[in-house]
Amino acid sequence: AAKNEGRSIIKTFEPVMLYDRQLRTLMASELRDAIGTDQLCVHYQPIVNLRDGSVNGVEVLVRWNHPTRGMIPPDSFIPLAEEIGAISEVDRWVMATALQQYAIWRAALLVPENFQVRVNISAIELRQLDMVDFVRGLLKRMSVPPPSLVIEITESALVSGGEVETYSLLSLKQLGVCIEIDDFGTGYSSISYLRNLPVDMVKVDRSILREPATGSWQPDFVAAVFQLIRAAGLGAVFEGIETQEQADFLRSLGEISGQGFYFSRPLPEPAVTELLRSGNALPLGPAVQS
Ligand code: C2E
Ligand code: MG
Ligand code: MG
Ligand code: MG
Repeated sequence: AAKNEGRSIIKTFEPVMLYDRQLRTLMASELRDAIGTDQLCVHYQPIVNLRDGSVNGVEVLVRWNHPTRGMIPPDSFIPLAEEIGAISEVDRWVMATALQQYAIWRAALLVPENFQVRVNISAIELRQLDMVDFVRGLLKRMSVPPPSLVIEITESALVSGGEVETYSLLSLKQLGVCIEIDDFGTGYSSISYLRNLPVDMVKVDRSILREPATGSWQPDFVAAVFQLIRAAGLGAVFEGIETQEQADFLRSLGEISGQGFYFSRPLPEPAVTELLRSGNALPLGPAVQS
């Protein structure tokens, strides 16, 4: 599996190692030190308008470039950051870094007007009372129009949300920020919330596109999920598009954006800037990896 994760992610570190108490304590203190240094970095995965292959956004994905353990993927340290109370700092650093980059792309006229920057936030960050103030201040400081920012929140975090979460969502919405349900289809939740929550878009989890157990995919099922989202009046984004067959099928369904290794892996900033500059339509082809 390590090979499929892209060349930059060297799997020397596995989450299961966190069961080792000593290592966990060590990693926790290393993570605390890493925040605010250049050990944390972000990669950007292009989001593609399936109709014409144009890049209409990026998802910002954090990585930890550990001095001795190599590139640690987020699934291996985000839970640790949550446990030690450092997730807010991580999520805010990622958001600030991404919006600063977006402001640079905008000033250089490298992105279209409807371009959107997607960041992930943890359920814990959504629960912070000053979270919306932070977002508002950041948008103002970077002169970024609120609809250019999409905040991705996992289905499970949204559905189990209490009063503070609901307040944050409504305030973000009022601010004009776009809210997206992430990992749709994995949360064991009722689908009625699609009509009740203040969200704008749904990102369908990649397991809907491809059965993890069998590796097969079912076009009829995928089409039904898309129709459900449209019926709820929401926009649809599909992740985990890995084959041309999947891309062609999704394109035939209607107005859909997508991301996946078929189009491009998450890329470091210089590669994404180059992609935007050259106006290249995706897919880039198998030669390009981050
Ligand atoms: P996610 O938000 O669902 O992000 C999509 C993940 O799927 C990324 O993994 C991406 O590299 C991967 N992916 C994209 N296309 C394909 C594909 O075609 N095939 C396959 N097999 N995988 C694909 P990544 O970068 O390892 O991130 C994992 C998760 O970590 C993210 O899942 C997100 O939940 C979390 N995460 C990443 N950055 C942040 C952050 O700044 N803050 C928080 N709280 N969570 C983050
Ligand atoms: Mg996401
Ligand atoms: Mg997702
Ligand atoms: Mg996910």
